[in-house]
Amino acid sequence: MTALAERTGAVNLGQGFPDFDGPPDLLRHAKDMIDAGHNQYPPLTGVPRLRTAVAEQRARRHGTVYDPDREVLVTAGATEALAATLLALCEPGDEVVVFEPYYDAYRAGIELARARCRTVRLRPDATGRFRMDPDELAAAVTPRTRLLLLNSPHNPTGTVFDRAELAHVAAVCLRDDVIAVADEVYEYLTYDGVPHVSLAELPGMRDRTLVISSAGKTFNVTGWKVGWLCGPAGLVEQVRAVKQYLTFASGTPLQHAVAHALPTAEHWARGLAATLAQNRDRLAAALAEAGLPPYRCAGTYFLQADTRQLGEADGVRFCEQLPHRVGVVAIPSAVFYDDPAGASHVVRFAFCKQPPVLAEAARRLAGLR
Ligand code: PMP
Ligand code: GLN
Repeated sequence: MTALAERTGAVNLGQGFPDFDGPPDLLRHAKDMIDAGHNQYPPLTGVPRLRTAVAEQRARRHGTVYDPDREVLVTAGATEALAATLLALCEPGDEVVVFEPYYDAYRAGIELARARCRTVRLRPDATGRFRMDPDELAAAVTPRTRLLLLNSPHNPTGTVFDRAELAHVAAVCLRDDVIAVADEVYEYLTYDGVPHVSLAELPGMRDRTLVISSAGKTFNVTGWKVGWLCGPAGLVEQVRAVKQYLTFASGTPLQHAVAHALPTAEHWARGLAATLAQNRDRLAAALAEAGLPPYRCAGTYFLQADTRQLGEADGVRFCEQLPHRVGVVAIPSAVFYDDPAGASHVVRFAFCKQPPVLAEAARRLAGLR
């Protein structure tokens, strides 16, 4: 869709990447680290100062304590952490529970590991917030279940799961001895005072959860691909063994720069989240005005909307035509489902863009009426 936006000159609200830079101090530190000669392989597990910064950040924000040497692993983005985890921990035929709609890398990683996906549907409630059904969740876990993958804040729905929902997830993991993988790449991007609770914080979960995050979303540097994983030493060791032969390591100067900035993440991200919340409100108003009522969103870069008022129930067709009709690119949420039946009319718009870009998108979307 990004290629289509470039070809057609459309405003690209498809792929989730910000069009504004991260903290100047972070960017400067990366240049300084290159100039200082930090340009060779880092250790397989990541530069020590980044592992320490990650451990301190998890303790500070969530009260979860990790040994930076054995329980933190730096990866090439959250994507590598996800792939290495699935490849390390799943045997062919194992089942992995995921919440649908799900980020597209999940199914690909599960299939690479020759495991099977068991999906639990998130559905909008009367207020438009996507939520899980605890009974469906309990029923999805079987003796074959090895992992449960939870993304919160959630792409593409924008749901930030609350403590009660996480308690349901924790309960099934504890009941059936399932390992949880918590993808928290949008951990700082929550709005309206909604807190981000980490699954690893819940009683009994620290020792059965691999938490995955990344600098990309927190610091507006999605192209840096500096991510990490934290968890109990035995599991992290298995993931490390796979990671060694995927990339071994990556991005030494960028790892140093992220280590430098991570202690300031709360301060920086407060401003970022305030900006993004305003963007969300502007885009939500524009979508509603254009006949695309938005669903609720309390986190991430994304707003989903319903195309049916405009007489189109097929989001794929809608998104294919949108750049040609009004010059805007969005993504059909169908790509985040095994079977999109019941959600074919849902499309996703990214709001991590500068106000003039969103204003231009709003102007163009108004042409749909
Ligand atoms: N998980 C989710 C839910 C995402 O939206 C993304 C997209 N950026 C990733 C993981 C991948 O993160 P990274 O760019 O750090 O690999
Ligand atoms: N996570 C981003 C999104 O969902 C994009 C990442 C990618 O393009 N692989 O849009």
